[in-house]
Amino acid sequence: MALGGPSLWQATAEPPAACPPLAGEREAAVAIVGAGFTGLATAITLAEDGIDVVVLEAEEPGAAASGRNGGQVIPGIRHFPDELEAAFGPAVGRRVYEFGLGTADAAFALIRRHAIACDAVQTGWLQPADKPAHLDASRRRVAQWQRMGHAARTLDREEMAAALGSEAYLGGWMHPGGGSVQPLSYVRGLARAALAAGAAVHGASPVTALERLGERWRLRTPRGSVVAGRVLLATNAGPGNLWPTLRRSLLPVWSFQIATAPLPAAERARVLPGGQPASDTREVLRYFRLDRDGRFVVGGKGRLGGPRGPDSFALQRRMVRRLYPALADLPVEHAWGGQVAIVPDRLPRVHELAPGLIAAIGCNGKGVALCSALGRPLAEALSGRPLADLPLPVAPVRPIPLHALRPLYVAAGSAWMKVKDAFV
Ligand SMILES: Cc1cc2nc3c(=O)[nH]c(=O)nc-3n(C[C@H](O)[C@H](O)[C@H](O)COP(=O)(O)OP(=O)(O)OC[C@H]3O[C@@H](n4cnc5c(N)ncnc54)[C@H](O)[C@@H]3O)c2cc1C
Repeated sequence: MALGGPSLWQATAEPPAACPPLAGEREAAVAIVGAGFTGLATAITLAEDGIDVVVLEAEEPGAAASGRNGGQVIPGIRHFPDELEAAFGPAVGRRVYEFGLGTADAAFALIRRHAIACDAVQTGWLQPADKPAHLDASRRRVAQWQRMGHAARTLDREEMAAALGSEAYLGGWMHPGGGSVQPLSYVRGLARAALAAGAAVHGASPVTALERLGERWRLRTPRGSVVAGRVLLATNAGPGNLWPTLRRSLLPVWSFQIATAPLPAAERARVLPGGQPASDTREVLRYFRLDRDGRFVVGGKGRLGGPRGPDSFALQRRMVRRLYPALADLPVEHAWGGQVAIVPDRLPRVHELAPGLIAAIGCNGKGVALCSALGRPLAEALSGRPLADLPLPVAPVRPIPLHALRPLYVAAGSAWMKVKDAFV
C-alpha cells in the first residue's frame, strides 16, 4: 500500500496554478486566509465584482480538506427544516434550509462557468441505510425534497442493491442533483479561475499574525504583509492560533480513505453502475465511489492522531470486504487522510469575530457543495452587504468547554457513535 505516497487525488490531478509566496507589503480591499473551496469560491466572486482581493494560503491551494476529501457533491444541509428553525428561529432556519437546496447545483454551475477540468459528473448521489430507523428518516427527507420540487426518490432494498451493486443495505434514497468531482483538480481549477478573474493567490504564505490597524487589519506572513479593510478566515480545521477562540470552537477529526487498483471490467459493470457516489447513514459513516479510472474509493473514520502506517487503514479495508466482498483482494494503491472540522451541533455558520473580520465554518462533510455555494454570499458580505442577509446564521463563537481535552471528546464521541450504529 502506498502509504506516505501521494493520495489518489494528488496522483491524478490537473497541474497546480502558479501561486508564488507573498513577498513585500501590499494593501487590498479584502484578504482571505485559506485557499480551499471556501476561500477561493469567495475570491472568484470578489475579483469578478472588481474588488481587490488577496488570498493567503499556508501551503498550496487544496492542501487541506478541499484537496483530500471524497469528492462527493452532496446536495442539502444535514438537518431537517424543523431542526434548523428550532436552532435559529423560523426566518433564519428557513433561509438556511432553502440555501441548502441549491448548493450542489451551485458547485456544478461554478465548474461549468470556469470550464474546470475535474472529472465532474452530476449523476446523482445515493444515501443507503442499513437500519430500519434510518429508512424512516430517508422517507421524511425525500418527502421534503419533493415538496420543494426536487426529483429525490426513495429506493427499496432491491433498487438500492442494483444502484450500488451491493446487498449491504436495506434501501435508502437518491438525489439526482448530486454527483462527484476530482476534488484536488476542482480546487486547483478554482485557484486558476480566481487568478484569471484578477485575484492574487499566494501559496506558501502562512498568516502568522493578524493585527488590528485602526479600521483595517494587517496580516503578516514570513516574507510580507497585507493590510486589508475586510478579512475572511477560511481556514476550516486549521485556524491555528490566529484566532484562539475559533480554534477552540472546533473539533478536528481525521477521516481516512483508500483507493484500490482499477476494477476488472466485470466488476466495473456491477459496482455503482450509474456512477453515483454514496455516503451511508451510519454515525461512523462509510462513503464510497469510483474514480474516473474505475478505482474503488472508500472512506470513513480515521485514528485520532492521523495515519501512522498501513494498519491505520484497517477499517477502510474492512469496509471494502463488507460492502463488496468480490473486491477484497484488489490491491490498495493509495491511502490518505484529511481533517474535517466538526462543530458539535454540525451546523454551518458564519462568525463575526471583530469588525471587518469574519469566519465561515461548519461545512463538516458537505463542504464540496456547501463551500462552493457560499462564495457569492460571503463575497457580498465582504463587500459591505449586511451580515444579516447571509444565508447562514451569524452566530457568536462558542468555544467548547475544556477544549484541551478534545482527544477525549473525539474518542468518547466515536465510541458512542459505534454503540448507536450497533443498536439504533
Ligand atoms: C477526508 C475527508 C473527506 C471528505 N469528504 C467529503 C465529501 O465527499 N463531500 C463533501 O462535500 N465534503 C467532504 N469533506 C469536507 C470538505 O472537504 C470540507 O468541508 C471542505 O473542503 C472545507 O473547505 P474549506 O475551504 O472551508 O477548508 P480547507 O479546504 O480545509 O482549506 C483551509 C485552508 O486554510 C489554510 N490555512 C489554515 N491556516 C492558515 C494560515 N494561518 N495561513 C494561511 N492559510 C491557512 C489551509 O492550509 C487550507 O488550505 C471531507 C473532508 C475530509 C477531510
